[in-house]
Amino acid sequence: MKQARIVVVGSINMDMIAHARRLPLPGETLPGEDFEMAPGGKGANQAVAAARLGAAVSFVSRVGTRVHGRALIAALRAEGVEAAQVIEDDAALPGIAVIMVGREGGENSIVYIPGSNAALAPADIQQARTALQQAQVVVGQLEVPQAAVLEAFRIAREHGVWTLLNAAPALTVDPALLALTDSLVVNETEAAQLAGLADAIASPEATARTAAEVLRARGLPCVLVTLGAQGVLIADASGLRLVPAPRVQAVDTVGAGDTFVGGVATALAEGRTLDEAVRLGQAAAAIAVSRVGVQSAMPRRDELGAEFAARQS
Ligand code: AMP
Repeated sequence: MKQARIVVVGSINMDMIAHARRLPLPGETLPGEDFEMAPGGKGANQAVAAARLGAAVSFVSRVGTRVHGRALIAALRAEGVEAAQVIEDDAALPGIAVIMVGREGGENSIVYIPGSNAALAPADIQQARTALQQAQVVVGQLEVPQAAVLEAFRIAREHGVWTLLNAAPALTVDPALLALTDSLVVNETEAAQLAGLADAIASPEATARTAAEVLRARGLPCVLVTLGAQGVLIADASGLRLVPAPRVQAVDTVGAGDTFVGGVATALAEGRTLDEAVRLGQAAAAIAVSRVGVQSAMPRRDELGAEFAARQS
């Protein structure tokens, strides 16, 4: 019996967060109240979520070694993520998000530098061929060039490996990438945009239902639309169904989607059904939103309870 093996292809960033009473005006200097640095990027977040839930995770990415690039790789390794396929870009910038948070208005301003994330190329993916072939599930998102994710999904498809695309952030997606996608995970906004729905329909759930049906009709075998505290809409060959999220006191929902994706990928790699995988992903995301932080808030497997005990595939 093998352990669940997952490859995540995607972005890794350093978030640098300055907290002040309010945001500064252009040209203004304000005293700050707090500062923190935390690893992020949808790819790295999803890799850490799956590793904490017990999967053997290999991460495929590019990281510039300027600023805190090496610290990002060390942080991944400390989480048990295999980083042999992470290419170090000497003298390049890693992905960096400089975030200012204004306490009183709860608003923020962000400068995002994609750095090495933008340089991930199909040739880099070829180097990870063995890891891709040996996985049960390959996960991609859209913070790295789509050509790189496409190459990974092409190798996965050749070897019967399940592909999971988290089409975030919302962008136009290459139809060739969608054609190689087994499971699509999107939030309501991304679903509506991908499906080409101009305006929201009556409610988020109605929008999600219509979008999921449109996307299924385009040939996607399985579409999961996340609806925050409402849960997840599943659309597959068995039809449409809403799986409600566990009720929790949410304090910080940043990274909820990444925790959900990591959980779904882990459960599918263990051979669980799609509905079980959604419930496991939701259980993990519900714990993450009840704590402050992104990667630091992600739960370990034993926190999910007996129903979701680790299973070998
Ligand atoms: P979202 O990206 O906000 O749709 O969130 C992704 C997933 O995280 C949802 O489908 C839920 O499973 C979970 N989640 C997000 N917000 C909450 C919340 N307030 N309470 C419980 N679960 C949540």
